[in-house]
Amino acid sequence: MDDRGRARASGRLAGRSTAGLPPARGPGDRAPGIARWRATAAAAAVIRCAGVHDHHLHLFAAAAALASADCGPPAVRDAAGLRRALRSAPRDAAGWVRGVGYHDAVSGALDRDALDRLRDDAPVRVQQRSGQLWLLNSPALAALGLDAGADAPGVERDGAGRATGRLFRADAWLRARLGPAPPPDFAPLGRRLAALGVTAVTDATATNGAAEVAVLAAAQARGELPPRIVVMGTLALGDVAPPAGLEIGPLKLALAEAALPPLDELVRQVGEAHARGRSVAMHCATRVELLFALAAFEAAGVRRGDRLEHVHVAPPDAVVRIAELGLTVCVQPALVAARRADWEREAEPCDRPWLAPIAALRAAGVALLASSDAPFGPLCGADTLAPPAA
Ligand SMILES: [Zn+2]
Repeated sequence: MDDRGRARASGRLAGRSTAGLPPARGPGDRAPGIARWRATAAAAAVIRCAGVHDHHLHLFAAAAALASADCGPPAVRDAAGLRRALRSAPRDAAGWVRGVGYHDAVSGALDRDALDRLRDDAPVRVQQRSGQLWLLNSPALAALGLDAGADAPGVERDGAGRATGRLFRADAWLRARLGPAPPPDFAPLGRRLAALGVTAVTDATATNGAAEVAVLAAAQARGELPPRIVVMGTLALGDVAPPAGLEIGPLKLALAEAALPPLDELVRQVGEAHARGRSVAMHCATRVELLFALAAFEAAGVRRGDRLEHVHVAPPDAVVRIAELGLTVCVQPALVAARRADWEREAEPCDRPWLAPIAALRAAGVALLASSDAPFGPLCGADTLAPPAA
């Protein structure tokens, strides 16, 4: 029986790595990095059992988040706390202040003017906790040229054409505009993963390509990241020959309800990945995103390893369809536990009965993988990533 079958038969989360810490390898491979990782983990004295696999996180963003101001609950709950967090945050090498984890419950829907009142002596960018929205103050907008002719999809403007400071899903543009930055320091993140007993991770960032693989491989060789890393990413990533210790994972397709692609285009992308021997992992957090993803897989067909990421809402007929199609679902139990009350308050009434459907998916025999989605959810270890059978 394969992993999927085992997970179905037992009704358990298939989160535990069966391999655990890999055996030391021969000379010429990445043994020094692995040895250092073992030493880090042993020093933390918490490697339990065989180690666990976090099946969906974002290594660059998680490493950067550890060096950023925490702007959301539970660390920050009101405007005064947000002001303290931003004013005490150090500037990065480029002189910017970076904040993460913001939620409107802290101080409403922030725009440039509101941010200017909190800190205006440096360019400030604050990421909303969904990861899909950046909030920028006026010095940041000026530095990016958004008040002087530059523009990009996702840059919100008011009726007079003035940038509001709200940038939706503009990460790639922002990165290109900010210019090359040194990679984040992965060591603090690696120490946290080691302390949690995480020995394998899957980076689920849709934009990952050859350059990101090279940076992750170098950090892994220095012993800063776990000995097993699976990298999801672009279609072109499938042409990269991964170094030892890294594996190329599924094509990652990120659906956003507010900007869904034409269904035909999505079906074409799934078909192209399958034709190249790659499975597909589709981000679908909302009900609409899930139904769209299911329509795409129904049209394109399902290949072993095809996955749905998140599935925070799933009505019963969608759960049945996921099981029938044989799709794996990668869920985030710790994030669900942290956000469930907010979701229940904010959800559309028609979604409310079907939120966080992990138990329903398990009951329907859907193969589940467990993950943190860090930094958008809390990093977690064996208790969350490989819980005992329900
Ligand atoms: Zn994610």
